[in-house]
Amino acid sequence: MRILAIGAHPDDLEILCGGTLAKYSNKGHKIFMAHLCNGNMGGKDISPEELAEIRDKEAKKAGSLINAEVLGPIAGDLDLYNTREMRRGVIDIIRYAKPDIIITHSPDDYMPDHIITSQLVFDAAFTATLPNYKTKYPAHELITPIFYMDTVVGLKFQPTHYVDITDFFEIKKKMLLCHESQYKWIKGHHLSDPINLIETMAKFRGLQCGVLYAEGFKIESVWGRVRPIELT
Ligand SMILES: [Zn+2]
Repeated sequence: MRILAIGAHPDDLEILCGGTLAKYSNKGHKIFMAHLCNGNMGGKDISPEELAEIRDKEAKKAGSLINAEVLGPIAGDLDLYNTREMRRGVIDIIRYAKPDIIITHSPDDYMPDHIITSQLVFDAAFTATLPNYKTKYPAHELITPIFYMDTVVGLKFQPTHYVDITDFFEIKKKMLLCHESQYKWIKGHHLSDPINLIETMAKFRGLQCGVLYAEGFKIESVWGRVRPIELT
């Protein structure tokens, strides 16, 4: 299968579905990791331009640990809007990746880039299948099923699917540790240690489904999107 995960910022996918992507990769599936924003606001002592470059390198390093192809960005942080131009950008990510499954943010997540990413992906995944809607790449044949990944710290999120990532928690952690520029920033700005955050969340979701570490997902269950497929 071809799995396309679309997050807002470099490091969101590692935090919210990195174990699942590692598990898919280990099974031989093709993984695409896209971030729509360039991460240029995730700091205060580095210029936005410089930070965007650093974060691009960190994202590629993290993706390389699971042989994922890293795609994006299409906007700066907090410059992501649900516009025609940006929808076309997401359509081309989908048309390029030709996914069987898309994983993205929950519409109930905590900040605008995450919420708009979710909306853009929902809208683009349908539009991407229309041959008469011309963009850089030809139409994708499948109205791709969408799984929403957990919200950051799991608030306002009740999973419908759980993935046992017990054997992939270490690689998830390694992937997140590639985002070196973010430790100090996240600790200072959001008052949480990212490693503690992913460990607590994975244990909490694990507790709910009877394994040590898990990631939670919610299927988008509207007409045309639901398929008889299993998440890993
Ligand atoms: Zn984010």
